[in-house]
Amino acid sequence: MKKYMMEALKEAEKAYNMGEVPVGAVIVKDGEVIAGGHNLTETQKDPTCHAEMMAIRQAAALLGGWRLSGCDMYVTLEPCAMCAGAIVWSRIDNLYIGAKDPKSGACGSIFQIPTEDRLNHQVRVSYGLMEEECSKILKDFFAELRKKKK
Ligand SMILES: [Zn+2]
Repeated sequence: MKKYMMEALKEAEKAYNMGEVPVGAVIVKDGEVIAGGHNLTETQKDPTCHAEMMAIRQAAALLGGWRLSGCDMYVTLEPCAMCAGAIVWSRIDNLYIGAKDPKSGACGSIFQIPTEDRLNHQVRVSYGLMEEECSKILKDFFAELRKKKK
């Protein structure tokens, strides 16, 4: 649903304002946003602090367990291999992706981890929800970064 992707975009904006690559994610359960996260790899000096990982950690802490069954994730950019793996491991039901990531996306672009039927859990994946807005914030960010470098 669009309103949840808008929440994920708000998370991406938080990252943008901190100078982090603007990717955001939220987790929805029973129609309610229960967790959100944005990229924090620079701030935390930790390569695992992607938006999806932050949201999963928050949701698991809130629900008191690692199983996020009955939860959906909305993320502004196609998850990488690490996050796609974590999404499978957390048993998320549905994954809604804004923009595709042809360079490192692991949900169809270069790997197809969430729907891999050799794993014991599959995640349903939908693409293109608010794709334009989700890719625009990334484009703006990198354009600004290039300008600063000059
Ligand atoms: Zn990732």
